Amino acid sequence: VYVVTEACVDVQDKSCMQECPADCIFEGGRMTYINPDLCIDCGACVPSCPVDAIFYEAEIPGDQEHYIGVNERFFAET
Ligand code: SF4
Repeated sequence: VYVVTEACVDVQDKSCMQECPADCIFEGGRMTYINPDLCIDCGACVPSCPVDAIFYEAEIPGDQEHYIGVNERFFAET
């Protein structure tokens, strides 16, 4: 699963949403979120992001790991 991290906050470029073949990236309040149940791990979203906000979950920088939960909770609540 790929995860959107802090760099996206208040940027929301949304290029990733157009690249995603699974249509699993959604707009939230201040960032975009990847639905972990639908992501097919293709990685197409990563190079589209102008602020390098998207990481494969096993490769997220340590200070950004809580965004795994942030993305999960976004979809748990909707
Ligand atoms: Fe969509 Fe692929 Fe990115 Fe997952 S890795 S969010 S399926 S573009």
